[in-house]
Amino acid sequence: MEKKPFVAAILAVGSELLTPFRTDTNSLYLTEQLNSLGIDVKLKMVVGDELERIVECVRVATQSADLIIATGGLGPTEDDLTREAFAAVLGRKLIRSEELLQGLRARFARYGFRMTPNNERQADVIEGAEILPNARGSAPGQFIEDGNTVMVLLPGPPGEMMTMFEREALPRLRQRYRGFFMARRQLRVGGLTESAMDNMIAPIYRAYSNPTTTVLSSLTGLEVHLTATGSTMEEAQSLINELSAKLEEKLGANVVSTDGASLEQVIKQLCVARGYTVALAESCTGGLIAKRLTDVPGSSAYFIGGVVAYANQVKVEWLDVPATLIETHGAVSAQVAEAMAQGVQHKMGATIGLAVTGIAGPEGGTAEKPVGLVYIGLALKDRVEHKELRIPGDRERVRELTTTFALDWLRRTLIG
Ligand code: AMP
Ligand code: MG
Repeated sequence: MEKKPFVAAILAVGSELLTPFRTDTNSLYLTEQLNSLGIDVKLKMVVGDELERIVECVRVATQSADLIIATGGLGPTEDDLTREAFAAVLGRKLIRSEELLQGLRARFARYGFRMTPNNERQADVIEGAEILPNARGSAPGQFIEDGNTVMVLLPGPPGEMMTMFEREALPRLRQRYRGFFMARRQLRVGGLTESAMDNMIAPIYRAYSNPTTTVLSSLTGLEVHLTATGSTMEEAQSLINELSAKLEEKLGANVVSTDGASLEQVIKQLCVARGYTVALAESCTGGLIAKRLTDVPGSSAYFIGGVVAYANQVKVEWLDVPATLIETHGAVSAQVAEAMAQGVQHKMGATIGLAVTGIAGPEGGTAEKPVGLVYIGLALKDRVEHKELRIPGDRERVRELTTTFALDWLRRTLIG
């Protein structure tokens, strides 16, 4: 019988977290901590300070989760209801702890305050729970075991929550979940749209529930994140290796890296290994390609420089693009992109000249040459080629995706 995968859930309690003014950051910290224990978070909820809703969330969590961590709602005020909600779902009583009461009274006395009756609620402990002392505040946490399920209640203020997690919760969880290991891998992918990539690989990764696969898309490229858990690190790692090998085979030259290296880092490695140098001529990207290449330290090992050739005059005078070519075909054309690439390659004495010219918008588009039309020219030694792109979206998107595409074409040229 297949072992049911372990499920951890995080519940952030606090009405302020449902406004645009406060963000639940506690769960990010907790997720990182749990991952380091080999525990994957499968469910996260944010709920306001209403008893019935918190109860609903705890019920949902208990249906599938083996470990539930809640933060917030442990304070003294009427709207701090986390204790009550967990007690209700567990069908256990809340017992006011005399020991905690005394501690609270002493704490208040120390700061010269009188303890008001509502503060006594912070001494309410769920029957059978272990009390987790709060080194940085007044609200104690609670650690509850219910059959195979563990529930941890932590305070909301991030500083208090983190200290309590590290000092009190972590040692208990480490003890309990010994033998959970998590391995991760990140495949970077270039030259495909997100949907094209997913079409290729979904049939492969969908067959696996462990590792889990997450596809991320941004203006700098695609990422496939694999996460596997196992009872040893070797087991988790070999699960990753198995799925990764299948995905890499399917994706072929589209794979940029499997070790987290960026497109620019990979380009640097490839150029240095081949002894190639690169020069750029950028029109619509205005230097973004040069920026990305020089984000990598040590890029001077292969990157010579670039010309931001915005005006036609610069294309003609600095890149030796024949003026007649611009008159005949327009500045945004395959012919001009190739001429720019060859021009900068010769001027700078580079192995490779890479050039872009396009219409980033929002103005300047025509029916024949719409916004998002981009030509990339690439001159390698005595060969020159071009590609035509049509990128939907706003100016930033057109410029960033042009940059990413141009860099990926450069990478493919280097491996091809
Ligand atoms: P509480 O324990 O509910 O009284 O929370 C006190 C304060 O902690 C709130 O006003 C928030 O500013 C902060 N807080 C509570 N929950 C979170 C969370 N999930 N992420 C970040 N801050 C939080
Ligand atoms: Mg609160």
